[in-house]
Amino acid sequence: MTLTRSRAILNALRPHSFANSQTCFRALRSCSRDVPSLKRCFTSGLESPTEVEKILLDTIKYSARCMEELHGVWCHYHASLGAATAGVMATGPISFARYMQMCLSHPTAGYYMKASKPVIGSAGDFITSPEISQVFGELLAVWLLSQWMYAGAGRDIRLLELGPGRGTLMHDVLRVFSQFPAARSATKEIHLVETSPAMRATQEAKLSSLVEQQGWKLHWHDGLDRVQPDSTNFTLALAHEFFDALPFHLLQKTHHGWQEVLIASGPDPAEPTILKPSDKPSLDFSSTKPPAERAARFRQVLSPTPTPSSTLLGLSSTRFQKLPVGSRIEVSPVSFKIARQLSELLYDRESEGTRSAGSALIVDYGGEKVYGNSFRAFKDHKIVDPFHRPGECDLTVNVDFAYLKEASGDLATNLGPLSQAIFLHRMGLQARLDALKASAKDDDRRKDIEQAAKRLVDPTGMGTQYQIMGMAGRRQGELTDEERWPFLEVAHNDSQHHEADEHLSST
Ligand code: SAH
Repeated sequence: MTLTRSRAILNALRPHSFANSQTCFRALRSCSRDVPSLKRCFTSGLESPTEVEKILLDTIKYSARCMEELHGVWCHYHASLGAATAGVMATGPISFARYMQMCLSHPTAGYYMKASKPVIGSAGDFITSPEISQVFGELLAVWLLSQWMYAGAGRDIRLLELGPGRGTLMHDVLRVFSQFPAARSATKEIHLVETSPAMRATQEAKLSSLVEQQGWKLHWHDGLDRVQPDSTNFTLALAHEFFDALPFHLLQKTHHGWQEVLIASGPDPAEPTILKPSDKPSLDFSSTKPPAERAARFRQVLSPTPTPSSTLLGLSSTRFQKLPVGSRIEVSPVSFKIARQLSELLYDRESEGTRSAGSALIVDYGGEKVYGNSFRAFKDHKIVDPFHRPGECDLTVNVDFAYLKEASGDLATNLGPLSQAIFLHRMGLQARLDALKASAKDDDRRKDIEQAAKRLVDPTGMGTQYQIMGMAGRRQGELTDEERWPFLEVAHNDSQHHEADEHLSST
């Protein structure tokens, strides 16, 4: 297979001074966001409640309309299913989706919305790949650039990022684009989908000088639905650690169908539907519970019967229908909707799919399957209970890439997902590292470059826990192997791991 195109781009890419993200990496070498397991418990409510916690408790108490948004999404994309649920609103306990949305995105108290504390980096709660090494963004840029060369050359480039955080990834991508005259002059607009004003300010500070210097235009949007399809341009999109932050619903399969696991306020003997591991709702005798649990402000309850929304979400993938009674699944209709919207931007309706309108990369925790127990929180670089200090911790849930494919498959050719390690190795990690090391000023710097890259491809950590999926707007004719690179089939299941290990041992 071929590495020719990415090598050619890499060779032309000037060794660039080592970004200050490396300093950040040094401080965080031992901290990790990539911890797979979670000890699940509901934390005690003995501490004073956080701002979000107070809002949540009120929301639960005063009849939360927690299914409204979900209902809207499905009515739009699955009209026949949505119609069956018309007018239904849940009250009382709230969904995990509402909990997550309030904790992360409440306009004033949400975790991402506050300017008071940084969330990403050494002073924040977690670190992400672009913050660890500039090589990450550069290799993603090489993939985007090669997609444009294959499918979009002749058209202007519109760059798009969902949830750009501190703007580091986009900055690295733009740095690469600015080094190639054809890409530099084709690039016209950069669109950032970001709900947080605090994050927008950070992104502007990071990107504005490079963008102004090149004469490009920066635009921010509250949602992807605000970005208009535009097939006169070729859209190159990125979503890094974005889908894992989107709200999900927790469902449990019972003998009566899918029921929703909801969040109720603290133990209340009058509450009849406390969740048991069994498939039937049963009474909660909270007085028999240990004191810590009695003091908890939130508890899980199972909807007493299947609700229209749990039934609907359970039906939303044939994969879910095959699961046995007792299974729990984390389903994100908002992720489905956004994956769908993304594919709509990549599909060229005007040419009726004769040509593609763009390509995208989605990078996240997860895999090609549905998860049931991956919801977790991060605080100070440690994994914590997702009900700890609501609004003061990052919340994350594994991404079901198969669901994203189901949402987008008719409008985009989905590629992969592939582990981060394989993707980066195949895109020419070693070649880029060699160039950076050759231009590094001393051995310490060279060691930092090397260690940062190792962290990105660590087979026991980020290298395998992060998956990268490509999307190319559907068009007539098959993609060539070169266009699919590095998302090509490997002969045996194990060969991916061998490939990564071989590269690692020589890194
Ligand atoms: N991509 C960055 C940041 C990841 S954190 C990185 O990897 O470093 C998630 C980012 O998505 C933050 O910028 C957050 O403010 C943004 N975000 C979270 N939910 C969002 C939503 N529903 N719409 C738009 N942006 C969102």
